[in-house]
Amino acid sequence: MVGCENSKKSDSDSNKEKCLSDDVINLDQGDPTAFQEYWMKKKDKCTVVIPGWDLMSYFSDTTNVCWFLEPELEKAIKALHGAIGNAATEERYIVVGTGSSQLCQAALFALSSLSEVKPVSIVAAVPYYSTYVEEASYVQSSLYKWEGDARTFDKNGPYIELVTSPNNPDGTMREPVVNRREDGKVIHDFAYYWPHYTSITRRQDHDLMLFTFSKITGHAGSRIGWALVKDVEVAKKMVQYLTINSIGVSKESQTRATTILNELTKTCRTQSESFFEYGYEKMKSRWERLLEVVESGDAFTLPNYPQAFCNFFGKTISTSPAFAWLGYKEERDLGSLLKEKKVLTRGGDRCGCDKKYVRVSMLSRDDDFDVFIQRLATIKDLKCNQP
Ligand code: PMP
Repeated sequence: MVGCENSKKSDSDSNKEKCLSDDVINLDQGDPTAFQEYWMKKKDKCTVVIPGWDLMSYFSDTTNVCWFLEPELEKAIKALHGAIGNAATEERYIVVGTGSSQLCQAALFALSSLSEVKPVSIVAAVPYYSTYVEEASYVQSSLYKWEGDARTFDKNGPYIELVTSPNNPDGTMREPVVNRREDGKVIHDFAYYWPHYTSITRRQDHDLMLFTFSKITGHAGSRIGWALVKDVEVAKKMVQYLTINSIGVSKESQTRATTILNELTKTCRTQSESFFEYGYEKMKSRWERLLEVVESGDAFTLPNYPQAFCNFFGKTISTSPAFAWLGYKEERDLGSLLKEKKVLTRGGDRCGCDKKYVRVSMLSRDDDFDVFIQRLATIKDLKCNQP
C-alpha cells in the first residue's frame, strides 16, 4: 500500500531502482541537498566567475566593524530580509561567518568574555540542537560551561540561552524559557525561519540573531552564515573571535552567496520562479508522504504543528520542518531499529531526550527520501505492512 507506491510520487524517474536499493541511507546529518534540482534549472543564472587577480586581500571594508564582510553581501542580506519580512536589519551590525556554526561560537565567546562573572552557563531547552553541546564544551573554555536543559536550569549567575526557532530537532516555534533578564543573554538561532519551513508570523527583532545560507537555499558547502547584532561591543568581540579563528571569511564564498541571495530576492514574488514557492511545495509534499506512512500505522509519533498565517505568502500555511522528530510508541531505541533497516538517524539522547525519539533529516536527495519512506513503511509493528 505504502512503500514502493509512494515512490511513484517522486520527482525522480528511477523508481524501480529505488524500490530495490539496499544502500545505507544517512539521514543523521541535515545535509540540505533536497533543493539541488531547483538550482540546476537556473542553469547559468547563478554561475559566478572570479578572475585570478580578484579577491586577493584579507580586507573588504576597513571602515566596517566586520572588516571582512563584502559590502555587496551586506546589501544582499538586508534586501532578502526586507523582502521576506522575517528579521529586522536596521540599527544592527552584520557579522559574516564560516557558517553560523562559527558565529555561534563567536557569540558564546563575545557574550561570555563581556560578562563580569565567569564561567557563564550555557543552556538550551530539550530537545536541543545536539551540536550546541559540542560547541559549548569541546574547547573546555573557562569562559563558559554547558549546563544542559534550560527548563531545569536553576543555577544562580550569568547564563546564555540558545533558542532555536523553528527548533532543530522538533520543528516547534520557541521562545526563551529561563527569563531571568538581569543576568541572562539569548542567542536566537533562526536557521529555519524561512517561509518554505514555517509561517513568517513576525519580523524578529532580537539583540543577537543567527542565520545561515546553508538552510535557506541548500548551499551548505559555501559555509556562509551571518549574525544580526544590536550591541557594537558584542559585534566587535565576535569579529575578534573570527579574526583569530580564521582571519575573516572566504571572499569567493561571499561572492557566490551574494549572487544567489540576490536571485532569491529578485524572484521571490514571481510564483513560477520563486525559490520559496518551490521549497514550500517540496517540503509540504515530503511531509504529506511521511504523515501518510505514520498515520497508517500505530507505531510512530510526530509532533502536531498548528497552521498559521504567513505574512510572506499572504495565506495560512502548514509547517514543514527540516527535520522530523519521529517517536516510537513503545519504549525502544528507535535509532537502532531504523539502523537495522539501514537508515541512519540522530538519536534523541543526543538532543537531551529519550532514545525512543530520533531526528530524521527531511532535506536529503529525492532518492534517499523515497527509500526512507519505503523502509519506514516496512517496520513490522506498522499495521499496513504490506511490501
Ligand atoms: N543552527 C542550526 C539550528 C542548524 O541546524 C545548523 C545546521 N545544521 C546550524 C546552526 C549551522 O549551520 P551552518 O554552520 O551550515 O551555517
